[in-house]
Amino acid sequence: RAKKEGPGRVVVYEPHMHAEALNYLSLRGDLRQALQAGEFRLQYQPLVRLDTGEITGVEALIRWDSPVRGPVPPADFIPIAEESGLIVEIGQWVLETSAAQAAAWRQVRPELTLNVNVSGHQLMHPRFAADVTRALAVAGLPSSAMTLELTESVLMSDPQAAVASLAGLRELGVRLSIDDFGTGYSSLAYLRELPVDELKIDRAFIARAELTGEDLALVRTIVDLGHILGLRVVAEGIENAAQLDALRRLGCCYGQGYHLCRPTDPADLAGLLRRGSAARAA
Ligand code: C2E
Ligand code: MG
Ligand code: MG
Ligand code: MG
Repeated sequence: RAKKEGPGRVVVYEPHMHAEALNYLSLRGDLRQALQAGEFRLQYQPLVRLDTGEITGVEALIRWDSPVRGPVPPADFIPIAEESGLIVEIGQWVLETSAAQAAAWRQVRPELTLNVNVSGHQLMHPRFAADVTRALAVAGLPSSAMTLELTESVLMSDPQAAVASLAGLRELGVRLSIDDFGTGYSSLAYLRELPVDELKIDRAFIARAELTGEDLALVRTIVDLGHILGLRVVAEGIENAAQLDALRRLGCCYGQGYHLCRPTDPADLAGLLRRGSAARAA
């Protein structure tokens, strides 16, 4: 353990920091290779209408199968892609790949919509709107068929800049969604100003929706809030029939979750999309 002391500042180096820094650098290096080596792929998780079981859309979720590390979950590499700026290129690949896939599925299901996750660095990148436009044009996907998901914490980190950027995107005709709602401390006043179309209730709230009392009341309040603001409300992380029933009773219109359908490889989703409804919800 080494200590460096100077006037007014103390820097302490712990051995574990060294290991973390090395791991960060090595992961960043591998990530840089991954795109060119074709190690990323997308799975898609259906968005389901809770009253009918109809699949109305899909959310693209990135997967990284690293030959050296094995499968790396997005929660482990998206933050590093974000810090290093690699997310701009990776995000562009996600936009292009998912838009092409959605356009193909729309030959069978013309109303199918696509949700794409967007990180903060991507949203604030000056080229982002142009990237979205290009992905839509190349795929032949109408802009109204695409919803961009931004987390509440991204929107709250620089609210003014976020509102400006969202307004520009909305002019393209794409829809906007607040992901992981309820985890990011946005104020009601700010929520009213945001030019968004959809609110996704974070699954931390849904995990408790099968319970009664306060937990259920809290979810009801979020659903009602979304509807008052004129937003489409989607419940994330529905894992069992009790949660599904509770959400239906609360009037929540849309949902996602393992109970309805897991994130799925595109080849395996084709049949389900042709049938049109998620087995569990129908
Ligand atoms: P998210 O956008 O909130 O996506 C939902 C996450 O919950 C996904 O995890 C999904 O697999 C998982 N999930 C879905 N249903 C259930 C359920 O019933 N129970 C539980 N326990 N989990 C469920 P995943 O795929 O690991 O992605 C994690 C996060 O990584 C995403 O959260 C999103 O923030 C980010 N992410 C994924 N793909 C992309 C991408 O292409 N670009 C960016 N910027 N971020 C991405
Ligand atoms: Mg999402
Ligand atoms: Mg979410
Ligand atoms: Mg999440």
